Amino acid sequence: MLASASGICWKFLNQHNNLMKKAVDIIIVGAGHNGLVSAILLARAGLKVIVLEEKDTVGGAAKTEFPFTKVPTLGTSTGAYLLGIMSPELIRTLGVEFPLLRRDPHYFLPTTGKRYLLFGSDHDAMQNQFIFFF
Ligand SMILES: Cc1cc2nc3c(=O)[nH]c(=O)nc-3n(C[C@H](O)[C@H](O)[C@H](O)COP(=O)(O)OP(=O)(O)OC[C@H]3O[C@@H](n4cnc5c(N)ncnc54)[C@H](O)[C@@H]3O)c2cc1C
Repeated sequence: MLASASGICWKFLNQHNNLMKKAVDIIIVGAGHNGLVSAILLARAGLKVIVLEEKDTVGGAAKTEFPFTKVPTLGTSTGAYLLGIMSPELIRTLGVEFPLLRRDPHYFLPTTGKRYLLFGSDHDAMQNQFIFFF
C-alpha cells in the first residue's frame, strides 16, 4: 500500500524495489502524525511497515520548528498547536502520554489598528472583549 507519493519517494522506491517487496508489507510515505499513527497500529497488527519521510525530522505539520531569526531558541509549531481534535480513544489505543501545556492566554488576534483580542482562562474578560470588539 502506498499512502501518498511524489518525487523523492518514488525514486527511493524504484531503487529499492526488490528489497521492499520482500521486507515490508506496507509502505507509508510521510511521517506526519497520521502516517506515524497508521504505522504504529499496522505494526501492532503484525504487519511489516516502513515509513518514508523526506524531511530531516518526523511530525509533519505538528513538529516543533524554530522560525524566528531574532529568537532562534524559541521553538513552536508552525502548523498544528492545539490537541483539540485528537480523540481520547485514540490516545488510549496508542497507549501514549503527552506532556501537555495549557496556553494562557491561548489566542491573540491583532488587527492593523490598535484593536486586538487576547483570550485566556478568564471567562469574564473574554466576554467583555467580545462585547467591546464587536
Ligand atoms: C497552519 C496550520 C495550523 C494547524 N493547526 C492545527 C491545530 O491546532 N490542531 C490540529 O489538530 N491540527 C491543526 N492543523 C492540521 C494538522 O496540522 C494536519 O491535519 C496534520 O498535520 C495532518 O497530518 P498528516 O500526517 O496527514 O500530514 P502532515 O502533518 O502534513 O505530514 C505529511 C508528512 O509527509 C511528508 N511528505 C510529504 N510528501 C512526501 C514524499 N513525497 N516523500 C516523503 N515524505 C513526504 C512531509 O514532509 C510531512 O512530514 C493545522 C494545519 C496548519 C497548516
